[in-house]
Amino acid sequence: MTLQFAAPGTAAAKMADEPLAVLFDRDDTLIADVPYNGDPDAVEPVPGAREELQHLRRAGLKIGVVTNQSGVARGYITTAQMRAVNRRVDELLGPFDTWQVCPHEPADFCSCRKPLPGLVLAAACELGIAPQRCLVVGDIGSDMEAAAAAGAHGILVPTPVTLLHEIEAAPEVAGTLAEAVRRVLAQVRQ
Ligand SMILES: [Mg+2]
Ligand SMILES: [Zn+2]
Repeated sequence: MTLQFAAPGTAAAKMADEPLAVLFDRDDTLIADVPYNGDPDAVEPVPGAREELQHLRRAGLKIGVVTNQSGVARGYITTAQMRAVNRRVDELLGPFDTWQVCPHEPADFCSCRKPLPGLVLAAACELGIAPQRCLVVGDIGSDMEAAAAAGAHGILVPTPVTLLHEIEAAPEVAGTLAEAVRRVLAQVRQ
């Protein structure tokens, strides 16, 4: 066993044990956000996303997607359109070990819509990994809140539209997806 000393303020310092899975928000984390997108041809990965996910797979980590898609409940897109978009994400960035999608809107009072923990818990359950050993990477506060509520660790990768208070409240902030992945890999024992 290798002992590692983590720098204060990093995910490594905060997690009790090395991570086994990384769960990604979809829109504005893995792909450019096109609000309520139902068109697979409009899927545009964040630059470098494919390579960064590949780094995680090579390190033996499971990877998943946890995404709110309230456009379904709101009637802006059909379930079939949402699935077609997710299939395109899979083609471009997959395979993912788990996909967890909340199709509800707030008025549905479901238990899966982030910031509630349902998607993160379902992903951890499907992977057979404790939520405490899952990292959640997302671009807004509700991604971080869902992680915390599930007992997972969050890393925020802000976009220009991420609110300042969400950045201040985040347990950890990375400038880019690549930096988030570097931080994750730094705490995986080789
Ligand atoms: Mg997002
Ligand atoms: Zn839901």
